[in-house]
Amino acid sequence: MSAPHRSAPPASPGGEPEPAACPGCGAVMAPAPGRTGTDGAAAACRRLFEETTRGIREEAATDPRAAATVALADTAYAAQHPDPADPGAVHGVLDTLVRRLGDDPNPDPAPQRPRVWQMTPADIAADLDVVGLEALVETWARTVAEDWSRAARS
Ligand SMILES: [Zn+2]
Repeated sequence: MSAPHRSAPPASPGGEPEPAACPGCGAVMAPAPGRTGTDGAAAACRRLFEETTRGIREEAATDPRAAATVALADTAYAAQHPDPADPGAVHGVLDTLVRRLGDDPNPDPAPQRPRVWQMTPADIAADLDVVGLEALVETWARTVAEDWSRAARS
């Protein structure tokens, strides 16, 4: 999977670009050089997510458990980085997310996206040395679903 290529932004005058918050998850990261993100995710965040899940994506072709983890990770990422141009699409993503988690879908669609997230792809990358990716993805996906349902109630 690769993000659509877009023309690179002009280099900022006077040196390195500043770290910026991902428009989706809010994680602050140094910009990924030479790439731009989608409307819902910073390029650096997308790249970190792709790098974190690269190994398990390769395993997914032959390992059903790995394939399920990849599917859950992709769904959680989409739920945390919805396309602002298509705000209604996230409801279908959230429905898929809770089904993958084995939970009942939330009957009330969230009126607004969460402002803060318990966990982001940056947290997964940071904890990967001590916790397995499969467990991290499961925990992250649950927190994304929780954050959405909390936003729906607030
Ligand atoms: Zn992000």
